[in-house]
Order: sequence, then C-alpha cells, then structure tokens
Amino acid sequence: MKIGFVKVGTQPINFEISKEKLIFSGTLVKFSRSLIELEAKITGSLIMPCDICAEDFDSSVNESVKFHISDGICKDGDSEYDIIEIDNSIIDLDEILDSEVELFKSNYFSCPECKN
Ligand SMILES: [Zn+2]
Repeated sequence: MKIGFVKVGTQPINFEISKEKLIFSGTLVKFSRSLIELEAKITGSLIMPCDICAEDFDSSVNESVKFHISDGICKDGDSEYDIIEIDNSIIDLDEILDSEVELFKSNYFSCPECKN
C-alpha cells in the first residue's frame, strides 16, 4: 500500500495491511509542514528460527510503533521520534512493515522448548 505524502492532511488516515500472519494497522497524520506522524501496531505471528536450537517456531508479535516520516532529508533534527526519510514523496507502507519486521527479527529469540 502506497500513499502520497501530500495526500496526508490533519485528518488522520487509517490504514491496514497484512503480510503473511502479520497485520500492520494504524494512522497517518500530518505533524508539521515536512513531517507526517505514523502511529501503528504490528500484531500476529512470525515464523522465526530459535537462537539456541535453530528450529523454526511461531513467535507472537505485538509491537507498537510511532515515528515521523520526512519527505526527503529531514531538516529538523530535534524530533523526539525516529524519522524515516522517504524518496519520491511516496509513503510505502509495505516497505516500512518490512523494515520493522527486520528490526524485530534482530532481537534475541528462543523457542518454547529452549525457554524451559
Ligand atoms: Zn529452541
């Protein structure tokens, strides 16, 4: 799902996309002239390899994310949130979900067997 940067105004836009067993849902709202605020939840489950035994297992995901999206290079550096800089004035929600999933996967995981 892609949304043009200029399409997002002060009225929040709801979105929901899914990928495999994950649902990425939330809102986009204009925060300032050059920033859009994204607030969303990533819920569902993800097949992950266990860091101890390397067996794949279903890990439940329940993450809240909030960040700002800048059209091009962000000029005001004092935002309290992480900033994602986009190209071509297009917000690509699938790409954002992918990068959040990669971030999530970089955490340490152990399957239920190894936890015991
Ligand atoms: Zn394990």
